[in-house]
Amino acid sequence: MSHQRTHRYCGGKGEVPRTSGMPGYCFGCEGTGKITVYTAAEKAARQAKRERWESARALVEKHARTVQAPEGVRALVFRHEVVAGFDTLGEREPQRMEKLYASLDAGRIDDVVYALYEYRQSTAA
Ligand SMILES: [Zn+2]
Repeated sequence: MSHQRTHRYCGGKGEVPRTSGMPGYCFGCEGTGKITVYTAAEKAARQAKRERWESARALVEKHARTVQAPEGVRALVFRHEVVAGFDTLGEREPQRMEKLYASLDAGRIDDVVYALYEYRQSTAA
């Protein structure tokens, strides 16, 4: 299990003295005074998750070049919007990423690419 410990750099205060002598924000612990220590297994899991994300993103981006963009949408814009859709989904609804990965694994890459494009259109302000 991960656990929290006091950030040694700032001594748990969450702030560090600036050159002016006034207290400044401690970026190392994001001002909380604590940092999270992960076990080796947790680090490996986080690494695997990051790699999964990156490979899925690369696959989607590459595949978006090969599918037909919707009528009236330039290919370059389409690709950009698909990748933006991927990023937006990951930021706003990370719990849906597992389903996306499963669809990619099942070979439904076209569906994922179009769904990400649609998602992007529905979320873009
Ligand atoms: Zn700190």
